[in-house]
Amino acid sequence: MIYREEVVLKEQYLEELQEEYNKYKSQNLKLDMSRGKPCSDQLDLSMGMLDALKSDDDLSTAKGVDIRNYGVLDGIPEAKEFFSQMLEVGEEEIIIGGNSSLNMMHDAIARAMLHGVHGSPTPWSKLPKVKFLCPSPGYDRHFAISEFFNMELITVEMTPDGPDMDEVEKLVRDDETIKGMWCVPKYSNPDGVTYSDEVVDRLAEMTTKAEDFRIFWDNAYTVHHLTDEPEQLKNILEACKAAGNPNRVFIFGSTSKITFPGSGVAMMAASKENVDFIKKQLAFQTIGSDKINQMRHVRYFKTFENLEAHMKKQAAIIKPKFDMVLNILERELSDRNIATWSKPKGGYFISLNTLDGCAKEVVQMAAEAGVTLTGAGATYPYGKDPRDRNIRLAPTFPSLEELEKAIEIFCLCVKLVSAKKQ
Ligand code: PLP
Repeated sequence: MIYREEVVLKEQYLEELQEEYNKYKSQNLKLDMSRGKPCSDQLDLSMGMLDALKSDDDLSTAKGVDIRNYGVLDGIPEAKEFFSQMLEVGEEEIIIGGNSSLNMMHDAIARAMLHGVHGSPTPWSKLPKVKFLCPSPGYDRHFAISEFFNMELITVEMTPDGPDMDEVEKLVRDDETIKGMWCVPKYSNPDGVTYSDEVVDRLAEMTTKAEDFRIFWDNAYTVHHLTDEPEQLKNILEACKAAGNPNRVFIFGSTSKITFPGSGVAMMAASKENVDFIKKQLAFQTIGSDKINQMRHVRYFKTFENLEAHMKKQAAIIKPKFDMVLNILERELSDRNIATWSKPKGGYFISLNTLDGCAKEVVQMAAEAGVTLTGAGATYPYGKDPRDRNIRLAPTFPSLEELEKAIEIFCLCVKLVSAKKQ
């Protein structure tokens, strides 16, 4: 008898949800929470940068190089000094690149495949197989670069402290075809996790069968705090030096989500030995990156403290969006045991896990109601989430009004799909 009542209640519940969903569907909405892009208010914060250089300004570097002309392969000294503070490395340990750190990562992999890295016994592509560790959920574009170069991607689970280090250590100890690993160590994409000191130390110290193993340390969100208590990430280059593995890490960063994505300044850092090796290879690729943009950034911010103050203004714009999403998730989903989600202190994403086997259908239903989300599975190698449960939410780009509607529809889809499965 009780069982029958439960069935009737469940049917009623499903019908109510379906009715609500159909109402949204008929509104022909078009809401996009798929990619982590700044909104236009955030971009407005950097407009002063466009006037940071005037035609009658002195347009030469401290070393007297005319920034309007060719030259300076690894970046102007002013940019090296400024951005070495952001990546916490020495000025001789940084290379200033073009407009995209992803581009620098791609090229670093391409060079490693074709020519090897400093100390490689052979170019990576000469080996029958190259494998890369992919802490997951992770950044889809990292995994895509590895796939593009025919690497085999190995999933390593993320924990609240970073990648599962027992697994990482076990894998790299015995397999010389594992040449590297992707990491987003601070406010990770999408989990918002900052690696613990212990994880950083273990990465620096671990024994790798491949003598030319490299950690691709994408510190994209290093200054992107959402609270007044920034999380602290241990300096991996120093940890690698202390562990006797100074050449193990390539660090990347950019101002894409500080100033203008696509028109920012990207950078790469590593040991001086690595940097010297890379510069020789880079010389075949370019005469030098955009020095005018480098100088524009330095003259606009002037000090690193000003950049940090600028990031507080960014946070003031996006924090209410994160709060809204988290409040609605809490209100709609918290008492049902059908989802768990991250509460990030920085970065650009909220990572949500549905019940196993529900993520694809949720994303599909949301799309049919006009809400575009990052594809389910995108946060795992080969686009395949083995438990089909992770969904990356990107709250920064839509307006608060759009976001509210989008997340309400999303929650409705989670409830509907879960109720059908349960
Ligand atoms: N790295 C991470 C972890 C990102 O999330 C993103 C963009 O979303 C990027 C890199 C892209 O950086 P860039 O614009 O410097 O190429």
